[in-house]
Amino acid sequence: MKAEPGLPFHAFSQSKIKQYLTLTLYHELKTIRTPSGYSLDQAIRSGIENPDSSIGIYAGDMESYDCFAPVLLPIIEDYHHLDPGWSHKPGLEDAALPDLDPEQTFIRSSRIRVARNLNGFPFSGNMTPDQRLALEETVKHAFKTLPEKLSGAYISFTDLNEKQFNALLEKGLAFRKGDRFMDAAGINRDYPLGRGIFTSRDKVVRVWVNEEDHLRIMAQSPGGDIANVFNRLIQMMKALDNRLDFAFDRKKGFLTACPTNVGTSMRAGVHIHLDKLEQKPSFLETIATDHHLQIRGTGGEKTAVEKAVFDISNVRRLGISANTIVKDLHRGVQAIIQAERNL
Ligand code: ADP
Ligand code: MG
Repeated sequence: MKAEPGLPFHAFSQSKIKQYLTLTLYHELKTIRTPSGYSLDQAIRSGIENPDSSIGIYAGDMESYDCFAPVLLPIIEDYHHLDPGWSHKPGLEDAALPDLDPEQTFIRSSRIRVARNLNGFPFSGNMTPDQRLALEETVKHAFKTLPEKLSGAYISFTDLNEKQFNALLEKGLAFRKGDRFMDAAGINRDYPLGRGIFTSRDKVVRVWVNEEDHLRIMAQSPGGDIANVFNRLIQMMKALDNRLDFAFDRKKGFLTACPTNVGTSMRAGVHIHLDKLEQKPSFLETIATDHHLQIRGTGGEKTAVEKAVFDISNVRRLGISANTIVKDLHRGVQAIIQAERNL
């Protein structure tokens, strides 16, 4: 009998999709369409086109998590290091943690973000131009009704000329078209249509609209006062939760385009300058891993570290609460600063 050809994953690919999507499973799932018409072939395109993907599968809507559960669930359990019987842990209490670096010797800035998607719209890789615009209108309305202390301004990227857009980019406020991983997943389609940013009056709280997820709600501030950044963020999260209907599942938590973000969808991190540890990458990696932290480059995911400024943030987003994520980050960054001082 002629052997069936395998899935076209690159021989060197280390992606989770390559690891978990067997040929049998592929054949079982390949004819399924989610209510918005998303298929497994669309979901895995990024992982096939990019051999260096770490995950390689994106959800095209909230139903993808049910329709493609046989492949998505093992990936979720592996990525978030989940124990049997796992479940999303809700809860957003104000945090009270000391500033780790009041002199700002090491920590340049602290940033915490969550991802949110709206019920009733397909996810970013599977949206039509009209859906992106309708989503933007819905969200703009919610911004307009925020209480005075949370209010701010929304800017649609299509309303800006090149100079104005570049000025926002320089301040770290705009976002560019996503990388080739997001491109292959359809997330960049029609950019900059329907994309924009909300900023609070003091610019600490920001919301990206129609980036990788419908919303990326974030707070960012210079220095290492992680608790203050968290507390500012959760005020905005609660206000938007009262105004918008988010894609949510009791077990899996908030549902997102990338399975690494489901659950709390929270990435809490610092930009930290580590002159000495830069010379000892495996030592830094060990401390980070011991504290369930990951290291990214200065410009974000899959970028290089510039001038010894590392982005250190939590790996796990599901099965632990937002408050635990922030406490773990605090403890881990404290250990990293101690190691840097000792070198
Ligand atoms: P995410 O997808 O979690 O929002 P990315 O890795 O895609 O994060 O990065 C998004 C942007 O946020 C990048 O421009 C990155 O440089 C910036 N960023 C991330 N962490 C920080 C931080 N602590 N301080 C300042 N900027 C940050
Ligand atoms: Mg990103």
